[in-house]
Amino acid sequence: MVGFLALIFLFGVGYSLLGLGEEEIAVQLGPSTPAAESSTKMTPKSSTSAATCSDLGVLVDRSHPLPSGYVPGDLVPLQDYGVSSPDGEKLRRGAAEHLGRLVKGAAAAGEDLEVASAYRSYEEQRRAHKRSMHVFGAEAGRMSATPGHSQHQLGTTVDFTNAAVGHEVTRNFARTSAYGWLERHAWEYGFVLAYPTGREGQTGYRWEPWHFRYLGTENAERLAESNLSLQEFLESAGTTPRC
Ligand SMILES: [Zn+2]
Repeated sequence: MVGFLALIFLFGVGYSLLGLGEEEIAVQLGPSTPAAESSTKMTPKSSTSAATCSDLGVLVDRSHPLPSGYVPGDLVPLQDYGVSSPDGEKLRRGAAEHLGRLVKGAAAAGEDLEVASAYRSYEEQRRAHKRSMHVFGAEAGRMSATPGHSQHQLGTTVDFTNAAVGHEVTRNFARTSAYGWLERHAWEYGFVLAYPTGREGQTGYRWEPWHFRYLGTENAERLAESNLSLQEFLESAGTTPRC
């Protein structure tokens, strides 16, 4: 028990030391667990298009990386859309516009939402992974997404936080009323929770109540009406990264 608590403590310290957001520290469940490798699952349809990395429904997971050179072409600062973020965070234009509406909708309902992290380049992800290796050594391989495998590189994914959780990226966010509002309304603005609780075996990531990805309102509505996780949805209806 003491060992377990120490481990929890270590994780907490590592988290704050590194300033890491989820994917960098999410547990990798091993090569056999990602749903993409299961033969019983539907396979993403291969697109004949030469460039699918900018599709809103592109599957990026343990088995489907983005190339190191992929940078979305339409990144815009979130502050232009009235979204509060610490370091001039950016998203692709469509995602930023809808995020602006989402944050406004939340505010109208009395909910406070800030963005802790949005677009991350391949290089930023590489550095985060390296920091994780430095702190956790060999164990980092089980906790850290390698560059190219982060949805943040798509420029459509955000990590939410707010004052109620000290502006940190933390699971405590799930206890806030703002999270409750997101659970009910995020899909209306095209955003979905990428790594829900109880779906670790499919997604390869632990529960991340702060991490939302923009899919477009139509896809998000279809997903909300289904009983699928984002991973399952993209495996059946998404595309694979080719660019
Ligand atoms: Zn995230």
